Amino acid sequence: MKIKDIQEWEKDFVKRKGLLSPKNKNEAEELLKIAFLKLVEEVGELSEVVLKKRFKEIPAEVSDIIIFACKIGKIVEDYYNQPPLTEILKKKIEYSEKRKYDEKSLSFDKPGGGFGKE
Ligand SMILES: [Mg+2]
Repeated sequence: MKIKDIQEWEKDFVKRKGLLSPKNKNEAEELLKIAFLKLVEEVGELSEVVLKKRFKEIPAEVSDIIIFACKIGKIVEDYYNQPPLTEILKKKIEYSEKRKYDEKSLSFDKPGGGFGKE
């Protein structure tokens, strides 16, 4: 399954269920906030199952996080003229490969000032 498949399914799901589907940038901004809060909620659910050692539930909670992360990526792509999430992920992976780990500071360097800040 690809990110685009998840995003298309989610958009269709929202439509079929009669949930908020933005018609303009103001509504998109509202949806972005809601999607972010839902993402945080799902991170909290993952936290709970990890802490309570309910390991069987972890993949489902990770899936919820992925769905809301993909939704946020699609909103900024559609309404804020940002590149597709797959394109950014590819660049992130390429950038990560260039970074070197420093054992003294226990962190990675930031060649070129960091991702997206050059
Ligand atoms: Mg969940």
